[in-house]
Amino acid sequence: MTQPQANIGVVGLAVMGSNLARNLASREGNTVAIFNRSYEKTETLITDHPEAGFIATSTYDEFAAALQKPRTAIIMVQAGRGTDAVIDALTKVFEPGDIIVDGGNALFTDTIRREAAVRATGINFVGAGISGGEEGALNGPSIMPGGSTEAWQTLGPILRSIAAVADGEPCVTHVGTDGAGHFVKMIHNGIEYADMQLIAEAYDLLRRVGGLEPAEIAEIFAEWNRGELESYLIEITAEVLKQVDATTGKPLVDVILDQAGAKGTGAWTVQSALDLGVPVSGIAEAVFARSLSSKPAQRAAARELPGAVDAWEVTDRAAFVEDVRRALYASKIIAYSQGFDAIVAGAEQYSWDIRKGEIAKIWRAGCIIRAQFLNRITEAYAENPELVALVTAPYFADAVGGALPAWRRIVSGAALAGIPTPTFASSLSYYDGLRADRLSAALVQGQRDFFGAHTYKRVDQEGTFHTLWSGDR
Ligand code: NAP
Repeated sequence: MTQPQANIGVVGLAVMGSNLARNLASREGNTVAIFNRSYEKTETLITDHPEAGFIATSTYDEFAAALQKPRTAIIMVQAGRGTDAVIDALTKVFEPGDIIVDGGNALFTDTIRREAAVRATGINFVGAGISGGEEGALNGPSIMPGGSTEAWQTLGPILRSIAAVADGEPCVTHVGTDGAGHFVKMIHNGIEYADMQLIAEAYDLLRRVGGLEPAEIAEIFAEWNRGELESYLIEITAEVLKQVDATTGKPLVDVILDQAGAKGTGAWTVQSALDLGVPVSGIAEAVFARSLSSKPAQRAAARELPGAVDAWEVTDRAAFVEDVRRALYASKIIAYSQGFDAIVAGAEQYSWDIRKGEIAKIWRAGCIIRAQFLNRITEAYAENPELVALVTAPYFADAVGGALPAWRRIVSGAALAGIPTPTFASSLSYYDGLRADRLSAALVQGQRDFFGAHTYKRVDQEGTFHTLWSGDR
């Protein structure tokens, strides 16, 4: 029998897996064994990329035999049952000390379950969130691995070699045990939903209120991309808005049906945040905005309902554009602040030692929300690791404070003009709730005690109280 030659293997050779395998193979010192359920994909990959020097295998036994010990395999298959099937097959041919990495988009609770089951066999299991789509997988993704420290020791150098690089540092860190990596990847995607919706609302305002054409707005976004809003999402927005439809000659954005799809990770973020009791209102509104857009019958039925009470005439267009920019930046800070609150709550609930500043660092390149802005988050947590809310860090508090007049003008103007700004408005409302000296929650507690004897606490005495409410009940 020939000696095992590969130091790393990839199972699942659809778009993500084949690109990740090519990325691995392109790095000094790596020899990559590949396996796919149906052999055609394996054949295509070795034919198209002879330079990669892949070791092609056609059974799980052959795949295991091709790998040096401890065997390390990255699974990139369909999340859910596909992942379970591959894990099941690999645990049969791997040995204690080997490492199985799930690089797919798994729900973190599935990863917790899988890690426990695989660990019981003595094999290490790592749930690794991989962001950046197919381009990232090929050229350098942001990688968020969970799992044991032992597994990280072997895996770390390999993942560091293929990750995106920001300011000379690879965008990968050991996030925490079991589901921590997939949890953080899920929050990344939730923030991505909010960021995209915020940008879309800014565009809508510039178009409908500012009277600007998509090509002009593209210029504005390109300009914003040179300032504090600099990010991949702002950059691609400018590109999307520039695009002209070849068939009609219209801006492409005008011929795209206005019903947004979703693959579910935004909804997972909101569901998890509800379970954890964390208000991620920006992310939730972004998920709901996509849901609303995809209800054509309801939208058609509502089209004639009364709307604007104010025409919102813009007299100084430059000032209006600057107001929108500031409102966008302030809302973005809130969305990220909420996302990090969810990370803190998840870490507490599942006993993960997550270093928040490190997470912001590994999102600076390779992933969809990549931005220089994330350096500010790293700095904020470095300055104060116990920071209870990101928005209260001096830099962010100043930024939001400075944007406040513009933010309020935009949200109130949109409300009067009947223009939906769900993430702008909910972010502002969250901000006002957070900074309120006293909230209407006191009345809610009174109501709860009235109908359900749920009790309440007092501001002036220790203990739990119930009132014998008068009335006819
Ligand atoms: P995909 O379409 O999600 O999955 C197709 C792959 O899964 C094929 O290799 C398929 O094998 C394999 N597969 C499905 N069921 C299987 C089973 N029961 N046993 C063995 N293999 C099975 O592929 P993808 O788009 O490349 O994504 C891979 C993973 O990365 C997914 O978890 C996805 O959510 C995640 N991800 C994707 C992106 C993206 O931008 N696409 C970004 C980040 C993460 P056959 O060829 O034999 O059918």
